[in-house]
Amino acid sequence: MNEAREKSLRAEIAARREDLIALTQDLIRIPTLNPPGLNYHEICAFLAARLEGSGFAVELIRAEGAPGDSEEHPRWNMIARREGARAGECVHFNSHHDVVEVGQGWRRDPFAAVLEGDRIYGRGACDMKGGLATSIIAAEAFLAIHPDFAGAIEISATADEETGGYGGVAHLAERGYFSPDRVQHVIIPEPLNKDRICLGHRGVWWAEIETKGRIAHGSMPFLGDSAIRHMGAVLAEMEEYLFPLLEGRSTEMPVVPEGARHSTLNINSIHGGEPEQCEGYTGLPAPCVPDRCRIVIDRRFLIEESLEEVKGEIAAMLERIKARRPNFSYEIRDMMEVAPSMTDRGAPVVTTVAEAIEAVLRKRPEYVVSPGTYDQKHIDRIGRLKNCIAYGPGILDLAHQPDEWISVQDMCDSAEVMALTLEKLLCRA
Ligand SMILES: [Zn+2]
Repeated sequence: MNEAREKSLRAEIAARREDLIALTQDLIRIPTLNPPGLNYHEICAFLAARLEGSGFAVELIRAEGAPGDSEEHPRWNMIARREGARAGECVHFNSHHDVVEVGQGWRRDPFAAVLEGDRIYGRGACDMKGGLATSIIAAEAFLAIHPDFAGAIEISATADEETGGYGGVAHLAERGYFSPDRVQHVIIPEPLNKDRICLGHRGVWWAEIETKGRIAHGSMPFLGDSAIRHMGAVLAEMEEYLFPLLEGRSTEMPVVPEGARHSTLNINSIHGGEPEQCEGYTGLPAPCVPDRCRIVIDRRFLIEESLEEVKGEIAAMLERIKARRPNFSYEIRDMMEVAPSMTDRGAPVVTTVAEAIEAVLRKRPEYVVSPGTYDQKHIDRIGRLKNCIAYGPGILDLAHQPDEWISVQDMCDSAEVMALTLEKLLCRA
């Protein structure tokens, strides 16, 4: 890459450092908490005004009827497109605008977006309003130097990533916004760190398992059948057989942290017998044998495993228990399934961002895969677009934590990588 050009991109980013800080702060100060999905229209309108000012054509799209959408909490999305001077490819930056609950333990106001030294603090600073601001500054810096570029740039801010993305990227993908004839390269600026390229994520299967019993008086439990004891047998089988089996399975996917390079299972919740009484109740429980017990399981699987095998393994385990345990009966209900996704290392968006990282940071990128899913699943499965990665500033471990922060310098470095990526993809002769 031409040294002088690289320098001028760097100068354009440096000149926008204060703007980048202010934009990140402005975005954090709009508390887009999800659930329930607050201030989605406000943040989309704010971004629309900003990007219209930079020459983008903007659409605000409500995911009417999507899970969570209501008149009180409408699911708004913003998508902005700037056409180049001639035909070419389209590079799309997709960020989610929702943030998770604040939680306990903050030492700063989570929505004040205070700047202390190199850090901006706030809910969503790293996940992922810092990344969203970074992509906007990168695009604006690029446009200042290359108004005559080929192709198109798109920037979207989408709803509900934290709760599955159905009112956000999934909704847009179903309407063709991520089809390969419209968009050729997608970068999701999730906080994977400025020198790492995230190729995809593991798969997910959430299901509810229920064991059934028969209610009776608690003083004569032999007249009933305890659903909780049956569930105890399920948990014991998981401890003895399933957990060791899953830990022994490893993957070629470069998942970080390394502990997630295996199949994993989390028991998300357990409910059995009488429901917990509401807070004002001061009485005792009634003596009953529990007639049902339910657990929710969260099974993360690898590219080497199929969803059918994953489900079959649990079904076979339950059948084994049934064969040896009198009166054991159960039901399984699927809640959510997501296939693993991993973009090829030779894909053009991967090799281009890798070159840009080497040019800007003078080091080779690390290739990683996320233990949990993010919106890439919808771009891959619904949009059928395979040329997609997550790349953005911020430290993943800080996401969803108290005193979440992002480094201004990391955002500037990352903006330079993104701007250089645009140059490599949209300024070819
Ligand atoms: Zn995120």
